[in-house]
Amino acid sequence: MSFCVKCGRDCDESLDGLCIDCWLGGRKLTSLPHHVDLRVCTNCGEYEFGDRWLRRDRMVAVQDAAADALAVIRDAVPVSVSTEAVEQDPHVYGVTVRTVCDVMGYEAEDEATTIVRIKNTVCRRCSRQLGSYYEAILQIRTGSGRLSDEEREETLAMVENSVARQAVTNRSLFITKMEIVTGGVDVYLSSMSLGKSLARELADAYCAETKESPKLVGQTTDGQDMYRITYLVRLPEYHVGDVVVFQGHHCKLTRVNGNGGRVVDLSDFRERAVRRQDMSELRIYEKAADIREATVVSRSGAEIQVLDPSNYSTVDLRVPEGAEIGDTVAVVNIDDAWYYVP
Ligand SMILES: [Zn+2]
Ligand SMILES: [Zn+2]
Repeated sequence: MSFCVKCGRDCDESLDGLCIDCWLGGRKLTSLPHHVDLRVCTNCGEYEFGDRWLRRDRMVAVQDAAADALAVIRDAVPVSVSTEAVEQDPHVYGVTVRTVCDVMGYEAEDEATTIVRIKNTVCRRCSRQLGSYYEAILQIRTGSGRLSDEEREETLAMVENSVARQAVTNRSLFITKMEIVTGGVDVYLSSMSLGKSLARELADAYCAETKESPKLVGQTTDGQDMYRITYLVRLPEYHVGDVVVFQGHHCKLTRVNGNGGRVVDLSDFRERAVRRQDMSELRIYEKAADIREATVVSRSGAEIQVLDPSNYSTVDLRVPEGAEIGDTVAVVNIDDAWYYVP
């Protein structure tokens, strides 16, 4: 037990010889600067907090900016902070920050006020985007020399999704522009690493070949060489669903990914894996879109009878065991004979 040197009261603990009431008496626990500048990007509407730009409601941003500027004395530990903002004009807000602090086991409250001023600016990403800044070009092409509309839409959707996903954690990533060119499409990108990751993603999804070529475009203000990199992605001509010839066998291509692909042999319906390095051996026999349909007439064991789509005579087709046979089946003609396409 000790006593307070100021009021003489007995107290369990003393701070600098004072009881908690005397110690706190008129003492400021928290303080705020006279004003806090909060920068907002006039293009994207995001607010700057430290080295980050964040999407916030204006009132929330204003209160967060004030709370971030709060200073607390060493002997006090803030337990909870609440804020209240009053708009003085659309660019000036008065903010009161109330803080409950723990001071040597005692709870004490204090409040401080400041003025948050909104400063219009353009964030780095937006200024780059508005200035058509780019570091990489992703060139999407095909082996056939012509990128179909479907291929273009599918690959661009993949690119856009991937950029949107990556931009969640890295807001400096964006697509500067997309340009349809002879033979394909060019995607201009804000970063080299983004170009690299997209090229890899497309290569894995389509078993595509990629090539990168850097180009010196000048020097930075501090004398560093500045490069742009072109990532060429050449999509193979084959697609899942096509009938292809692989090592002399007619097969349906059933899967393509970064490790290669899978095919089903149309003569025995056995599935085989194709290694990535062997994928370039695949030759297209019939594109998926050109595969014909035949009407099923009857079924007996491992065979079904269908109408020949060219002359409507009845022909036998071998089908895999347990195959679900509907009213029509996909067929392909190889050397004057029809084959079931599973
Ligand atoms: Zn006292
Ligand atoms: Zn911005």
